[in-house]
Amino acid sequence: MKKGVAHLIPFIEEEKEKNQESKPKAKVLLATVKGDVHDIGKNIVAVVLRCNNFDVIDLGVMVPADKILEKARQENVDVIGLSGLITPSLDEMVHVAKELKREKFKQPLMIGGATTSRLHTAVKIEPMYNNPVVHVLDASRSVSVTGNLVSKTLRDGFLNEIKQEYQQLREQHEGRSNRRNYLSLEKARRNRTNISWESTPIVKPKKPGIHLFEDYPLSELRNYIDWGPFFITWQMPGRFPAILKDDKYGEEAQKLYDDARLLLDKIVKEQLFTAHGVIGLFPANSVGDDIEVYTGESRNNIRTVLHTLRQQAEKRRGQPNKALADYVAPKSSGRDDYVGGFAVTAGHGTQKLAQKFEDEHDDYHAIMTKALADRLAEAFAELLHEKVRKEYWGYAPEENFTNEELIREKYTGIRPAAGYPAQPDHTEKDIIFDLLNVQENTGIELTESYAMTPPSSVSGLYFAHPKSTYFNVGDLKKDQIKDHAERKGMSVETVERWLQSNLEYDPK
Ligand code: SAH
Repeated sequence: MKKGVAHLIPFIEEEKEKNQESKPKAKVLLATVKGDVHDIGKNIVAVVLRCNNFDVIDLGVMVPADKILEKARQENVDVIGLSGLITPSLDEMVHVAKELKREKFKQPLMIGGATTSRLHTAVKIEPMYNNPVVHVLDASRSVSVTGNLVSKTLRDGFLNEIKQEYQQLREQHEGRSNRRNYLSLEKARRNRTNISWESTPIVKPKKPGIHLFEDYPLSELRNYIDWGPFFITWQMPGRFPAILKDDKYGEEAQKLYDDARLLLDKIVKEQLFTAHGVIGLFPANSVGDDIEVYTGESRNNIRTVLHTLRQQAEKRRGQPNKALADYVAPKSSGRDDYVGGFAVTAGHGTQKLAQKFEDEHDDYHAIMTKALADRLAEAFAELLHEKVRKEYWGYAPEENFTNEELIREKYTGIRPAAGYPAQPDHTEKDIIFDLLNVQENTGIELTESYAMTPPSSVSGLYFAHPKSTYFNVGDLKKDQIKDHAERKGMSVETVERWLQSNLEYDPK
């Protein structure tokens, strides 16, 4: 089996004909776990497995554990595959593994999706189930992994190898967490990012407040697309545009790119997706690791509070222990500063178009539809961020970057997203959604796991300070978890629940 699904497309057609008569090799159950709405990767796995003569039962997205168990039992499947994109889904997978054990299931479990990893599978999931658990790196491997799992001759050897590998990973992980030194929260705070707030220039937003972008022209968004991740979605290794000229993958990559642009032409021309966005720019000051957002320039009334998290791993001399709050002037400095937020979606209409293709048994274009919606959503975020810098906040009015330069983030400022390394607390999305009235303004909602739905939605904050960068908060210690929970008025358990999915978080 060749690598890369795009490669498989022509190959798949042949396989189908050949295998029509023969008995399926095994029955595989696939599901995106509860709270998660992303299914591009899972759908690619389903296509690849089906084309290799596996019988696939696809339960779709947001599938609760009991439904997975029930279906697995009913259909007497041979393998269960779980998929997810956002970090809370990792917890949900642990939950499914525990349930499978409790209910005495025997089927091997496959784990896949963007935030899943060999390490997380080895450390958190495998120990919960007394049957095989295997992380599947990408769709192309799902065929050989599934094949091994159901093969009488290969199974034992394969599983022994995996077991040893995971045992080793657990030991390494244990060693790693014991090796690092951590600072108390108090000490980490004293080593915050060093910014001279007396003298640093701060620009007051030219157009403060909330601004809506309804039914935004897709023709404009497409100019801001970053095609790099598109090829990763389709499991094409290498960078864009070099991949188009790649010796091995070039031909298929070009075909994929042509097909994508053809479909995009149609989507743009017929406005098959509806893109909505909202941005907001507000007076703000930091107070400790919180950012107070005010109702007005008088700064007397607090509109909401953003809670940031601080790196606690001991740093080399001269390196700060960063938190996003460092990029906003402290209240005590007497400086008037600002923060922004945004939420965008290109997801309205996506499901309808994808469904139309699915009804026509055109999985390729169904997947393509979703991949393009993801690209347009990220493009929308990129475009609005530029508008913010040049016009709405206006701190970089002269900026003039090419698309490639934008993708390389050459601009000043950042737009960190909640649930990402600089802000691992997913529940902060609630605050951004409230602040910008996101649901009403854009139609984006949050699932019980803080996934944005429709898929192909992006949200985050804006920071303008030239020193602002993305970073990884990393491991957090109990003192900070407690402090963070108190500041948010949440229980420690709730905070842990929405942080702990990140394997970096390992309270001692
Ligand atoms: N051009 C890419 C952009 C998306 S990935 C694309 O089209 O897919 C980069 C985005 O992820 C950033 O804009 C930011 O919103 C988020 N991000 C990346 N690293 C982050 C970090 N460490 N903390 C918080 N958000 C981060």
